[in-house]
Amino acid sequence: MEVVGRFAPSPSGRMHLGNLLSALLAWLDARSAGGRLILRVEDLDPDRCDQNKAAQLVDDLRWLGLDWDEGELEPDYCQSRRGRYYEAAFQKLREMGLVYPCYCTRAERLAASAPHSGEGEPVYSGRCARLTAEERLAFERAGRRPAWRVRVPDENLSVDDGHFGLYTQNLKRDCGDFIVRRSDGVWAYQLAVTVDDALMGVTHVVRGRDLLPSAPRQAWLCRTLGFEPPEYFHLPLLTDKAGRRLSKRDRDLDMGALRARYAPGELTGLLAWYAGLLPEPKSVEPKDLVPGFSWAKVPKNDIAVGCP
Ligand code: GLU
Ligand code: ZN
Repeated sequence: MEVVGRFAPSPSGRMHLGNLLSALLAWLDARSAGGRLILRVEDLDPDRCDQNKAAQLVDDLRWLGLDWDEGELEPDYCQSRRGRYYEAAFQKLREMGLVYPCYCTRAERLAASAPHSGEGEPVYSGRCARLTAEERLAFERAGRRPAWRVRVPDENLSVDDGHFGLYTQNLKRDCGDFIVRRSDGVWAYQLAVTVDDALMGVTHVVRGRDLLPSAPRQAWLCRTLGFEPPEYFHLPLLTDKAGRRLSKRDRDLDMGALRARYAPGELTGLLAWYAGLLPEPKSVEPKDLVPGFSWAKVPKNDIAVGCP
């Protein structure tokens, strides 16, 4: 079967080293299998994303020397323009009796959460799953707009990650009924990403390990909607010397600073060295890395990059 990969960055700020590593590995994973690559813009959140940031992101990926076969800024590859697909999936879940309105405020949600699952995400208690019709009506009359949650099964579900191996969660216990649509109408990441990967025919999802805990949810949602889940390949996270995950807040490692400091080949070489694909950093083009690419070379532990 043809490999179809994707990178799916969010234009909520300038990309940083970690995003670039994900992009490079998604590119190598697809290209080394002779597959296709999609660039999808995950601009669901109107408060944080805009077209200028999306255009910047495309320019940054091109500068690094990456290419793709489909997507980019075309409307059908921007999540903000794909609401009709999410709506259709939502209706399908609704017909299956799997979604319900949650009227909890953020404070209530946190208070009603079970202790953290160990992955840093609060587990929703299912409080609003048990509301009576009268209770719902009372919330509506009080002007509360609900978020919508999907009811998850109380069973162990595994994904066989192509890099980290078997990863199992009990969705009820480890994640809880999760939000598929926010109270302000914005579609949730979990629903959008699942629907998009399925409809775009994505077979390989390559991304940072911070999203590994989302994989069982997405695989389950995908099957529930009648699709075959993709294969997942998560990669280790980049951290600073103190072991803290790099974030968009680290301005000295964002693309603005990196482009001023490195030539594209140097930065590609640095990323490839972090990923275990080169014995030392040197200037390379992405295509030079294709013949030697293997997931077996990529480390599993987080990678401390300090200040490169
Ligand atoms: N848009 C997400 C991000 O930039 C990635 C989603 C995914 O790869 O599933 O973090
Ligand atoms: Zn609730």
